Amino acid sequence: MAVQALYALQNGFIGFERSGLFYGERSSERVQIPVACYLVRASDATILFDTGFAPRAVPGLLRNDPLASFTDADLLVHRLDSVGIEPGTVDMVVISHLHFDHAGGASLFPKSELVVQQDEYAYAHYPASFFASFYYRKNFDLPGYRWRLIEGDLELVPGVTVLRSDGHTPGHQSLLVELPESGPIILAGDCCYWQEHIELERVPGVVWDPTRALHAIKRLKTVARLVNGRIFPSHDPAFWQTVKQPPDCYR
Ligand SMILES: [Zn+2]
Repeated sequence: MAVQALYALQNGFIGFERSGLFYGERSSERVQIPVACYLVRASDATILFDTGFAPRAVPGLLRNDPLASFTDADLLVHRLDSVGIEPGTVDMVVISHLHFDHAGGASLFPKSELVVQQDEYAYAHYPASFFASFYYRKNFDLPGYRWRLIEGDLELVPGVTVLRSDGHTPGHQSLLVELPESGPIILAGDCCYWQEHIELERVPGVVWDPTRALHAIKRLKTVARLVNGRIFPSHDPAFWQTVKQPPDCYR
């Protein structure tokens, strides 16, 4: 098998309202949620999935959000360093979508291919008013960078496949990673915030199109069933406690 290892990289925690997590919920109760990236080591390539926050965003978050929590180790460069990776050696950076808690670290990768759905890239530059506060242009307005704008599913290297999962945003994508020992793992991104979103098919509260978001959840579940794999949600605090942390990894 071409894929060798999958590392989970923590990028801190923020507070979020339940109404933002679960479509249709009215509770403004805030909960602390993790922000994370994943590094895939394959024989043909080193691939990063998502990039967390921009370091410049952290002071403001810490000031305005009592549930925000970041350590120096949570910075993406330091997390990469902890698994022996320098940004310059990452071949591809797959960004699930261009919201600020997923695209914030893109500028670290001027040499890498930045793999994004074409629809997401276009929308992020001209978002609807209700979504504008989630897209920080500085994160993705990176002239000279190697954007690879794709449409739909794509096998990047053997065992690593982008799965289109739009709905949360117009061009959201997830990543199927086929591991030799652990089996297939689908990194859902914000298609599935929590395990509850997977099990009960709950749509994210922050959403561009709830119907498509629901279809995307079902799609990932179908793929997971067919390949006998599992789905990793993006922001589930209880699930995150069960995820292996470096130096441990999924092989
Ligand atoms: Zn998002």
